[in-house]
Amino acid sequence: MNSNISILDIVHDTTVDGPGFRTAIYAAGCAHLCKGCHNPHSWDIGNGKAYSIDSLLEKLKESEFSNVTFTGGDPFMQVEGFTELARRIKSETDKNIWCYTGYIYEQIIRSERLSRILPYIDVLVDGRYVESLKDESLIFRGSSNQRLIDVGKSLKSAAVVIWNNNHCMELSHLHIQNKFSTASHIAI
Ligand code: SF4
Repeated sequence: MNSNISILDIVHDTTVDGPGFRTAIYAAGCAHLCKGCHNPHSWDIGNGKAYSIDSLLEKLKESEFSNVTFTGGDPFMQVEGFTELARRIKSETDKNIWCYTGYIYEQIIRSERLSRILPYIDVLVDGRYVESLKDESLIFRGSSNQRLIDVGKSLKSAAVVIWNNNHCMELSHLHIQNKFSTASHIAI
């Protein structure tokens, strides 16, 4: 399968969409229409440009030491394409995947169609943006209802397990160290 995905933008080496350096893929299309949304332009799937899964993988592999974040828009609006992309990322690279969505985990797990992507996702940032719960002190999310969910542990325990920030901050630190040591190696 190699269907196209409508993408608004691809940003390399971002540090705000999960720990460490990441390539953020901005999906076009979102039906949640949250008040105060950071990017209403993303709501219309027609605002994106069609990318094949092969071309997205190629772009992700260009940033050798960056992990991946699916954001948008809502990647779950094109869940079949993102499921295939996530499956290929996991089989062809050692990158971890964070995914943002306006759905909550409990909705996703109950849907056969939506939940197929979960085994390939490391951390799911779930829930709509709620302006009255906005909190700028939160990391990697905008409002306090949104959760950073460790998907692997949640699937195993059949409960929502919140991502362990300390462990991942160590990983993030390692990624940054690797990146800089490689960069200096190339410069020498
Ligand atoms: S889910 Fe995200 S992209 Fe969609 S409307 Fe809400 S804040 Fe905007």
